[in-house]
Amino acid sequence: MAMTLDAVVVGAGPNGLAAALTLARAGLRVQVIEAHQTVGGGLRSLPLTLPGFVHDYGSAIHPLAIASPAFRRWPLHAFGLEWVQPDAPVVHPLGDGSVTLERDLEATADGLGADGPTWIRLMRPLLNDWEGLLHDVLRPLPRVPRRPLTLARFGLRALPPAAALGQLLFRTPQARALWAGLAAHTAQPLTAPGTSAMTLALGLLGHAVGWPFPRGGAQAIADAMRAHLEFLGGSVVTGVRVGSAADLPPARVTLVDSSPAALLQLLGDRAPASYRAALQGYRYGPGIQKIDYALGGPVPWCDPRVARAATVHLGGTAQEVLRSEAQLTTQVSRHPYVLAAQHTLFDATRAPAGQHTFWAYAHVPNGSAEPIGDRIEAQIERYAPGFRDRVLARHVTTAPDLQAYSPVFQGGDFNGGLLDLWGLLARPVPTPTPYRTPVRGFYLCSSSTPPGGGIHGMPGFHAALAALKDEFGIQDSEGQAADPIRGSAEVRP
Ligand SMILES: Cc1cc2nc3c(=O)[nH]c(=O)nc-3n(C[C@H](O)[C@H](O)[C@H](O)COP(=O)(O)OP(=O)(O)OC[C@H]3O[C@@H](n4cnc5c(N)ncnc54)[C@H](O)[C@@H]3O)c2cc1C
Repeated sequence: MAMTLDAVVVGAGPNGLAAALTLARAGLRVQVIEAHQTVGGGLRSLPLTLPGFVHDYGSAIHPLAIASPAFRRWPLHAFGLEWVQPDAPVVHPLGDGSVTLERDLEATADGLGADGPTWIRLMRPLLNDWEGLLHDVLRPLPRVPRRPLTLARFGLRALPPAAALGQLLFRTPQARALWAGLAAHTAQPLTAPGTSAMTLALGLLGHAVGWPFPRGGAQAIADAMRAHLEFLGGSVVTGVRVGSAADLPPARVTLVDSSPAALLQLLGDRAPASYRAALQGYRYGPGIQKIDYALGGPVPWCDPRVARAATVHLGGTAQEVLRSEAQLTTQVSRHPYVLAAQHTLFDATRAPAGQHTFWAYAHVPNGSAEPIGDRIEAQIERYAPGFRDRVLARHVTTAPDLQAYSPVFQGGDFNGGLLDLWGLLARPVPTPTPYRTPVRGFYLCSSSTPPGGGIHGMPGFHAALAALKDEFGIQDSEGQAADPIRGSAEVRP
């Protein structure tokens, strides 16, 4: 008998799963096809080192997921997802102590000395309307905003380069370092226009929802999404790479959670030359080199307060972070900014008793496999002398490894494409609904569409809304309520 699918989703990354869930919740018959044996894409947990240690292969910390307007529509807690909230969102060690982004605005300000009032003035108005703001920024930009005033306030501060805004706003080394450490998440030189946007958003989310992670591993998010999809009648096929349109089962719509190049392969000759040329010119940003560690004990931080957060920014002063990221398109700094996560201080399920995992990466030029493990470890040792003595095993993932793992991570670019201002507007092409392709029934739904990288599911969600409207005449009900945020705080052992 012929298949009676309404929709096929190619790829079970967070965005493919988000697209599939959105379609299934609208009553469509959906099938997801994934190349790997397990769903998740950048949301995978794997035994990369020794027995009993669980490592997050891609994403590790999830402020965007817990706050996402799409994720908050779905009852993922009913399918096993449990958030762990560390004591503080982020700690940034400095030579003579550390600076902390606390959940509480005033407590953060207390640690910033003379810059405390400035931090409060910057964050408070945005914090008062953070849900409206997220709704307006986590989608294609040229749309009528729901909260124009908050968006304008955000936009004015988001457009300047993070380096210039940090210098203008703050006087203390603590506030400048905290700001630079948040800005370095953009994987762009901090002098690039627009880099203040993610800096502000990450700081704001720390206050609004914290920087939590799922108990047991990032995989728990993907598993809960799959379980919810199957509960709704959707199906998932794993271990099948879709190479051309001939590999697709018949369906009215196909949503592609992959790279623009992989989309072109599926569209074949049906893609007009102009669209083909635009996608062939799609630009990628720097890559990542990541090390997963199995440790015999916790990281021996000089400042014990660094153990209050799962996320640690290792890069020193604002000037040092700025220098590290300045030339990341062509070379790796001798002293790279290192983004680290220490889950097991708050989630004992991920390692044998008394032992720990540690997740750390630095930015590298796109496609680079140059070994930089010594530089990453020197940065950790700088704030935790004796770290190397605790290492039982390490697993290195290079930028080419990430590309081989998922076509979305071309050259190791974890954002699925350069996230500069043009990269936001033309993702992958400058149209109001960039998910739609010129071939009827085909949509791109990966992080190579707005709003880009990160675990929030919004590209998949918006692509599915476009397909529902175009092909099935179903409009999203904007009034649909978001679930309240359900968290879980675990006391540190
Ligand atoms: C090392 C690293 C650390 C990160 N840390 C964080 C973090 O802490 N927090 C955060 O929010 N984000 C983080 N990210 C970013 C986040 O993981 C990505 O933005 C996100 O996974 C992108 O989702 P996606 O669905 O677009 O693509 P992917 O996650 O890459 O998923 C695409 C999926 O589709 C499959 N696929 C593609 N083409 C085909 C095909 N032709 N046939 C069948 N299957 C196919 C792939 O196998 C893959 O499973 C990190 C990423 C990396 C790499």
